[in-house]
Amino acid sequence: MARKYRVTLIPGDGVGPEVSAVACRCIEATGVSIEWEVHNAGAEVAERVGTPLPDDVVESIRRNGLALKGPVTTPVGKGFRSVNVALRHALDLFACVRPCKSYRGVRSPYEGIDLVVVRENSEDLYAGIEFQHDTPEAREIIAAIERLQPKKIRRDSGISIKPISVSASRRIVQYAFDYARRYRRRKVTAVHKANIMKHTDGLFLDTARAVAEENGVKVVRHPDGQVTYQGGEVEFDDRIVDNMAMQLVQKPELYDVLVLPNLYGDIVSDLCAGLVGGLGVAPGANIGEKAAVFEATHGSAPKYKGLNKVNPTAVILSGVLMLRHIGETAAADRLENAVAAVIAEGKYVTYDLKADRNDPSAVGTREMGEAIIRAVLGVRC
Ligand code: NAD
Repeated sequence: MARKYRVTLIPGDGVGPEVSAVACRCIEATGVSIEWEVHNAGAEVAERVGTPLPDDVVESIRRNGLALKGPVTTPVGKGFRSVNVALRHALDLFACVRPCKSYRGVRSPYEGIDLVVVRENSEDLYAGIEFQHDTPEAREIIAAIERLQPKKIRRDSGISIKPISVSASRRIVQYAFDYARRYRRRKVTAVHKANIMKHTDGLFLDTARAVAEENGVKVVRHPDGQVTYQGGEVEFDDRIVDNMAMQLVQKPELYDVLVLPNLYGDIVSDLCAGLVGGLGVAPGANIGEKAAVFEATHGSAPKYKGLNKVNPTAVILSGVLMLRHIGETAAADRLENAVAAVIAEGKYVTYDLKADRNDPSAVGTREMGEAIIRAVLGVRC
């Protein structure tokens, strides 16, 4: 008998409920049996129960090990942390994985892009350790730093702390190698600024090299200080982040899986999403040892809320990632091929996939979803 999966569904807010409802129907059309456990999170929930991320949401994901999540708005100045950041912390979702792949029919100056960005999710300048300028805390930190080393810091500085650890770097780079092997990718490239930040990015690079060696790569240290890499079932390379940004624009075909500390990962993910046509088609996953949350890269696009207008592709492709994650590879391929076919045909697609964004023949979120379901089921129309 076919296995039944329980998956936590967080519809989100803004356009979240619209795109996630369509994604659920598309996933179900593959025939994989899923029981959705619906839990809400975000500002509306916070008004009712006092927290935007009630315990039952986290407990449900812990129990099921899987969640599909719509985007959740982070209100400015309301005093609560982003639900997304809180979820990553609560479930120790240490890897943010964003595959960026070209689909024929999506407008982009590039074609044939197939990159995967693996971003460390738990530390770096995103750790949230900050000191506001001109406060006693900032003054104390500045004084302590000046006691410990000779460089001076301007008195009116704000301070953000950038912790990078051996353990988190080791875990994310090993994850990138495991991912590359599982999905038959050829190369992992570690991205850093080790030439400037020796004790943080330098540590990330040293750790990445050590992990590469453990994964069968020969790290050759030349007398002039240069380091090159040989062999390995999965190859390894490293790039300085500014050079990486330029190379991704000039010759993206040279790269495959990129592994980065948190902040560079954030920026390079969006760069790569731009290479394949933008937010409407960029899926993502936040992965931990015990749970995985699949969600689009885009946010809740509040101005389009309730209009049945935005592109559901990013959440549907996040569903494809979820199906692959649980080993339902044939269903994942069928759904991805259906999305690709509907986009390539260009008929039943949302406004953002039309050459002219005001093209009256653009369809709504639901109608694009229905076309994808027909393609999954092999129904012609
Ligand atoms: P956004 O991604 O919501 O929207 C920016 C613009 O991108 C939209 O106005 C729209 O033009 C376009 N767009 C986004 N998704 C699209 C889609 N599916 N189809 C077609 N066009 C699409 O970014 P924002 O306006 O910066 O953020 C809005 C809210 O979402 C904020 O509160 C932010 O914190 C939140 N957010 C949540 C998540 C998440 O839950 N994972 C991620 C990013 C932002």
